[in-house]
Amino acid sequence: MSDSPRRRYADVAVPIPLRSTFTYAIPEGLAVVPGSRVAVPFHGRKTSAFVVALRDEPPEGVKRIVSIAGLLETRPTFEPELLAFLVEAAAYYMHPIGEVLRAAAPAISTKAIRALRDDGFLDDSETLSGRRAADAVEKIVVRTELMPTTKLGPAMKFVLDALFSAGGERPLVAFAEGTDRRAVVRKLEKLGLVRVDSRDIVRDPFFRHGVETNVAPTLSAEQTAAVAAIVGAVNEGQGAFLLHGVTGSGKTEVYLAALESVLAKGRSGLLLVPEIALTPQLVDRVRARFGDAIAVLHSAISERQRSDAWRGLREGRLRIAVGARSAIFAPLVDLGLVIVDEEHDSSFKQEEGFRYHARDMALLRAARASAVSVLGTATPSMEAFELAQRGRSTLLRMISRPTGQALPSVEIVDLKRHRKGTGGHRLISPPLHHAMTRCLDAGGQAMLFLNRRGFAPSLRCEACGLVPTCPACDMPLTEHRRRARWRCHTCDFSLPGTDACPTCGSDELLRIGTGTETMEEALRAVFPAARVGRLDRDSAEEDGAFVALEQMRRRELDVLVGTQMITKGHDLPGVSLVGVVLADQSLSFPDFRASERTFQLIAQVAGRAGRADRPGHVVVQCFEPTVPAIVHATHHDYMGFYEAERPIRRDHGMPPFGRLVAVRTDAGDEGESEKAAQLLADVALAHPAVRAMEVSVLGPARSPIPRARGRFRHRFLIRGQERNAVRAVARAVLARIEQGIEPARASVDVDPVSML
Ligand code: ADP
Ligand code: ZN
Ligand code: ZN
Repeated sequence: MSDSPRRRYADVAVPIPLRSTFTYAIPEGLAVVPGSRVAVPFHGRKTSAFVVALRDEPPEGVKRIVSIAGLLETRPTFEPELLAFLVEAAAYYMHPIGEVLRAAAPAISTKAIRALRDDGFLDDSETLSGRRAADAVEKIVVRTELMPTTKLGPAMKFVLDALFSAGGERPLVAFAEGTDRRAVVRKLEKLGLVRVDSRDIVRDPFFRHGVETNVAPTLSAEQTAAVAAIVGAVNEGQGAFLLHGVTGSGKTEVYLAALESVLAKGRSGLLLVPEIALTPQLVDRVRARFGDAIAVLHSAISERQRSDAWRGLREGRLRIAVGARSAIFAPLVDLGLVIVDEEHDSSFKQEEGFRYHARDMALLRAARASAVSVLGTATPSMEAFELAQRGRSTLLRMISRPTGQALPSVEIVDLKRHRKGTGGHRLISPPLHHAMTRCLDAGGQAMLFLNRRGFAPSLRCEACGLVPTCPACDMPLTEHRRRARWRCHTCDFSLPGTDACPTCGSDELLRIGTGTETMEEALRAVFPAARVGRLDRDSAEEDGAFVALEQMRRRELDVLVGTQMITKGHDLPGVSLVGVVLADQSLSFPDFRASERTFQLIAQVAGRAGRADRPGHVVVQCFEPTVPAIVHATHHDYMGFYEAERPIRRDHGMPPFGRLVAVRTDAGDEGESEKAAQLLADVALAHPAVRAMEVSVLGPARSPIPRARGRFRHRFLIRGQERNAVRAVARAVLARIEQGIEPARASVDVDPVSML
């Protein structure tokens, strides 16, 4: 073959929490290249690992070198572009490269493992550590042809409705085990009304139902200009855009048109969305335009589906990928465009393990791949807007709705001036009650937003003073009345709920605060004729997020109350009223982004009102009606908010002006966690950059959630203007963590989003 000498050594990333790679010898005849998945012996076992580089000589000082045991896939798992991106991402977030590559790769096929056995690389008794693609069989509940002969109860009707709205079948797991729903499925099965089938998973749930193909509408002038700018940049092979378009301005059509042009050039495109379970409509729209030549990537697909999608993309058969944050690692070839929809959404940040921000990584990946990035939103993050202000990205503005629909009118209700509203509930103020009555009387639908689930966020016994708390987190337990449980919102621990105090037996349990369940019950009482539904994590676990949204779309509900799950880009044409139940609720969080979040939540949920032929109206209830975040959101005034927030961030040296790294410790013993935090903070304080006052250390202090899952938590922040100085201090802390801080654990979070 070629006459250049064979490279004899490979630097291999092993999936362990160490940032270094390990050098192995390449056996004669094994076609190993960077990106190859290999099996290597490691501390007495065999593990799958990835080759990141080849070399001619072993590193200096290394005496004994073992050989790679075998090649797991003939084609490299990672093409050079993706591998280089992942290596850079791991370095940026200071995370072990082996873990990053393992998380990004599809599972190992059992076929590859069998082949290794046949070749003698693995003995029959040996196993390989690493994720594995399981055989993909799932149980499906299918509606039969049989019609009911007896009258069915509401629970049975509900299940049949859920099946109907999902096109006749749903996975059994959608009816949570141990709940009434599962029992109802069994009853329906006995009656012959449904059947439970086992089936190979061949396609994604998104592909179960057909969608009608659709053609692009004639784009508005604003949309046309945005598409032209993006397509022009794609042709040049570089560019970053912030697409700031009001809700309903037709950003999705801009994405679709830009993707179409990328496809026409034979290149590929990636569309990242916040939470795919909540955006079935968007996936449908992409499918309607591009047919089934797209890969939909999300956490609920099986390993085998993931492997199929991965292969399709890598081989260039699939040229469009749509997915939640981890889709940023999808192996698209000849990437031309990376779009992040709702870029302000905090779900783009991974909060465990490899703590990356998919929006920031989208910018990096596009830049490195000679592709163009587009961040789209109606409420840009301070970070994204500042990049545009500094000329690092191009601002594309869309200020009107192509449907001609005006933005909704907004009414602020000062809850201090309204005592109990009509119907006796404080949080249904007279103005909200009035607006709802008008909306419902006119045949409209209403959505009410309250960012707290459950019935009573905390309980207190008025006889003995007991506040039931989680034994592992010390946080007050929330009463969930529908499931009759008291539940911890930090760790999900729960107890059967009672009406009597568990300590003294008194029935004087005071319910404190309001959650979505309380609102649901209050709405049913105040508007008995209205069909009221709820969408929050609890209802989504029981019914799937699709059900309530589909019921709204089919006008089977009049009112939907929900958490921030209802604020995400849904396009529900019948909704003419949106109520924000308690707008200042999120302002009290100990987080420098509290104002920004509040502004985004209100502006986004307000954007759900009045999307079709009906003008929309929004009622915002709050206790602090003069807070800038609330005032600007109610005026649809992003610039006003940005101008108010900018000096605050600048004066405090917070992002986007300062750079942050969060260091968190935890331990079973409070003293150990505190000691570790102090030890690591001392390492930071001793760093020359801190001594020179280029970088400051904030804390350490107890975390705002001081104990979670049985472990006490502390944290501190490293903050500075200069990225490299901040990183140097963080690296010193990380080096100390890697020396061992047992029994405590610690993590380093670069560009943190959560302040907990
Ligand atoms: P956004 O993502 O900015 O909130 P969408 O892309 O969902 O907005 O568009 C809002 C509504 O306007 C959708 O119902 C969409 O079909 C419609 N729409 C978008 N662009 C056009 C257009 N050029 N002509 C007519 N209707 C449009
Ligand atoms: Zn008591
Ligand atoms: Zn807990």
